[in-house]
Amino acid sequence: AEPALADPYASLNPEQRAAVEHDVGAAAPRPLLVVAGAGSGKTNTLAHRVARLIQSGADPQRILLLTFSRRGANEMVQRAGGVLQRIFGTSAQAVAALPWAGTFHAIGARLLREYAGRIGLEASFTIHDRADSEDLMGMVRQDIGLTGGQKRFPLKGTCLAIYSRVVNSRDSLADVLQSTFPWCGEWEEELKRLFGAYVDAKQEQNVLDYDDLLLFWSEMASDPALGPELGALFDHVLVDEYQDTNRLQAAIIQGMKPDGRGVMVVGDDAQSIYSFRGATVRNILDFAQAFSQPARTITLDRNYRSTQPILDASNAVIAAALERHAKTLWTDKVSTAKPQLVLIPDEAEQARWVCNQVLAQRESGTKLTQQAVLFRAASHSAALELELVRRNIPFVKFGGLKFLEAAHIKDILAVLRFAQNPNGRLAGFRVAQLIPGIGPATAARLLDAVGESAEPAAAMEAFEAPARAQGDWAAFVALYRTLRAPGLRWPMDIELVKNWYLPHLERLYDDAPVRAADLEQLVQLAGGYGSRESFLTELTLDPPDATSDRAGPPLLDEDYLILSTIHSSKGQEWKAVHVLSVVDGCIPSDMATGSADDIEEERRLLYVAMTRAREQLHLVLPNRFFIKQQAQMGDRHVYAQRTRFISPAMLKHFEECSWVNADTPHSRKPMPDEVRMLVRDRARNAWK
Ligand code: ATP
Ligand code: MG
Repeated sequence: AEPALADPYASLNPEQRAAVEHDVGAAAPRPLLVVAGAGSGKTNTLAHRVARLIQSGADPQRILLLTFSRRGANEMVQRAGGVLQRIFGTSAQAVAALPWAGTFHAIGARLLREYAGRIGLEASFTIHDRADSEDLMGMVRQDIGLTGGQKRFPLKGTCLAIYSRVVNSRDSLADVLQSTFPWCGEWEEELKRLFGAYVDAKQEQNVLDYDDLLLFWSEMASDPALGPELGALFDHVLVDEYQDTNRLQAAIIQGMKPDGRGVMVVGDDAQSIYSFRGATVRNILDFAQAFSQPARTITLDRNYRSTQPILDASNAVIAAALERHAKTLWTDKVSTAKPQLVLIPDEAEQARWVCNQVLAQRESGTKLTQQAVLFRAASHSAALELELVRRNIPFVKFGGLKFLEAAHIKDILAVLRFAQNPNGRLAGFRVAQLIPGIGPATAARLLDAVGESAEPAAAMEAFEAPARAQGDWAAFVALYRTLRAPGLRWPMDIELVKNWYLPHLERLYDDAPVRAADLEQLVQLAGGYGSRESFLTELTLDPPDATSDRAGPPLLDEDYLILSTIHSSKGQEWKAVHVLSVVDGCIPSDMATGSADDIEEERRLLYVAMTRAREQLHLVLPNRFFIKQQAQMGDRHVYAQRTRFISPAMLKHFEECSWVNADTPHSRKPMPDEVRMLVRDRARNAWK
């Protein structure tokens, strides 16, 4: 018999408990919305709810749990497992497996593979990440001749952004152009043609892009026959971070569960930061009336994460928003330490200051993994990354350039993708051109021949490669045959590809040994997946994070600092948080100062960043920073102003301190008078 255990829900406050107990035991609970501020325990409540449902007899196989990242999903499964363990003891492991926990995109990919035959897709489809999608858009754009002319047609990245926005928002192209890309308005007809051709190309090549995963899923969900069938797979559908879902995602939920029964979502309208992907807070605002059953709404206002001074400052920042977010959080975590505004001469000093700070915190007992450095754009951490490497401080970076975007890794993956799906032109194009003597024109001819043939390997063998390429070409075709042959045991595939690729790597790169080490990492990583297909799918959807000294994921027992874009820090918390470059031009980004809506989203971003901190919060403000500009203007240094989101009236919530040299921290050691004067004057003149 298991020992009697304390009530695992005892720590919940009455509102959290109400959400966890909502209609428990009813065959189909009414729809439920938990809307609450940062750190109020939304995610925690969701995890307890999952445990409570399973405890009361729900089948874990029939629980769909949608989160913002795979990290989020894993954490949720673990937390729910922890609660169940306290109830059932060790036998909880089996009950706590939640096979349907993941991101919308990952779950969509899985359902689409299962239902491919029913909706006219081939189950062997490959998935394009954003970079691939951009490249394909670029190829199509060239194919249909939309590059020339006197006026410049939008670049491939812009074209993809417009396309993606149309798909995700379900607005018309004309509306999207008018509201979001007004400078492209004159190209409406051409864009229509381009998007038509892009869609055809994807279909011909049997590839899906990220948006397709949601689009096809939502089409299935709104189909009168398939929708209910999909809905019937699940008794419960739970969604975290609902404020960052878009209309397609809302349509998916509504299509699968038209009466809303079994649906529970949690979110915070003040943290909505993904409108550039078509996310809309309307989903939260409309949730109560979205289903044939009205939803119950529960709000939480007690914060369990941050100290009161951190909350006061964050509350002040968000209270100035144009739209009201009628929530003021409170906590009983008292502290006298206000968040700090750290004034620094420039970005190089900022990097040094952060390194010093991080090490000092570690000295006083806060491990590196308990600290994070956050920034608005992935490129803002460049100087810091160099400094960290120089000082041998290990770190992991979330968001931004990923392991998988390195050219040599992409080469290997392209070979695997091409073996998986011979019609994928992008992968084929990349692979063929690895062979010396094969250029774009030959590669295109080759792919045409392969595409028209039912036997891709045979078509490749028959292909007349240029004389110079013949030896290498034959070697590749032999590899290709092996990869396509049945019975090859994963991860043997990747081992073979690596061995084939190594001589090319030597030829292509000066730093081949470093890159070869990455390939070893990739092989290691591959061993953790069940098959080539699941490896390619999951890697594309949720790539591992980049690290300091090697491209692969970090060793688990290592202490490392987290570097993250604010976007990727969503839902997480650290004991100490340092936010880089809290100046106008970075937050708000000068890319985003177009409309009032853009500015408001930047304000919410700052709020998200600040509310990640449990005990210590530093906002760092370099006085000078470097911006990369359009080619014709050249890069330059600019003098920065404190972010407009911290008004003079809010300064009482912060402690200001200055730093002229990384070795003389004003707030720690006494400084000689002249330095102090300098610091004080600088602070007065440059920041007010
Ligand atoms: P965000 O908006 O940033 O996603 P959230 O509302 O999801 O935040 P959680 O991450 O669930 O908040 O919780 C924040 C912190 O508060 C976590 O460390 C969590 O363990 C803790 N917490 C939540 N509820 C309680 C509670 N009832 N008692 C003690 N700690 C709690
Ligand atoms: Mg959360």
